[in-house]
Amino acid sequence: MTDIAAGLTAVRDRIRAARIRAGRVDRVELIAVTKNHPTQAVIEAAKQGVTHVGENRVQEAAEKISAYDGPPLTWHLIGHLQRNKAAQAVRLFDLIHSVDSVRILREIDKQAAKADKVQRILLQFNIAEEPSKYGLRLSEYEEILTAAADCPHVRIEGLMCMAPLAENPETVRPVFCVAYHVYDELRRRLPAGQVQYLSMGMSNDFETAIEEGANLVRVGTAIFGAREY
Ligand SMILES: *Cc1c(COP(=O)(O)O)cnc(C)c1O
Repeated sequence: MTDIAAGLTAVRDRIRAARIRAGRVDRVELIAVTKNHPTQAVIEAAKQGVTHVGENRVQEAAEKISAYDGPPLTWHLIGHLQRNKAAQAVRLFDLIHSVDSVRILREIDKQAAKADKVQRILLQFNIAEEPSKYGLRLSEYEEILTAAADCPHVRIEGLMCMAPLAENPETVRPVFCVAYHVYDELRRRLPAGQVQYLSMGMSNDFETAIEEGANLVRVGTAIFGAREY
């Protein structure tokens, strides 16, 4: 295993530098993405002060959550959610980033109602409209908000997006910039204080994302090293 403490220190330094460059005075929260890494990696990260953990798959997260016995963590679902996993996701996750259709929104609402919970969620937008990626299109913005108005057991707290894979993160800056504007519009649209998270930026582009306003970054490889599949 790579040195998680060193990886974390390096990522935190880079986050701080990006915040300073951008003149940001608000918080930027680091989500350590532990998918495809063992529970031991979660435990190590928690020892180094990590409090937010991101997982892609409900089943893998369920196993880690039950095996983990360190200080309390906030669990984020960042991968696509299938309807037949929604009930389990509602039980396990504090924040679901990957709400990418009206259907899954309604299913989460239904399962959250059963669990007597208000599920915190983010809307995932596929800003660049990449065919290979999940996410709402910008043209679906009104439709999803209309649907959400009838879903009292979900609470939209912000927006998530993934930029296209690029060697030079500068090339995806416009994607982050558009995401920020959508986030800002969402903030104005929903009740004051409700929308507070803009989740964007991964190992290869989180500094650019922070410069464009991200306040949740999802970083795996730069902390834990390459994943083995
Ligand atoms: C895997 C993943 C990440 C982390 O990716 P790295 O490049 O390893 O930092 C972030 N967000 C999502 C949605 C992911 O699936």
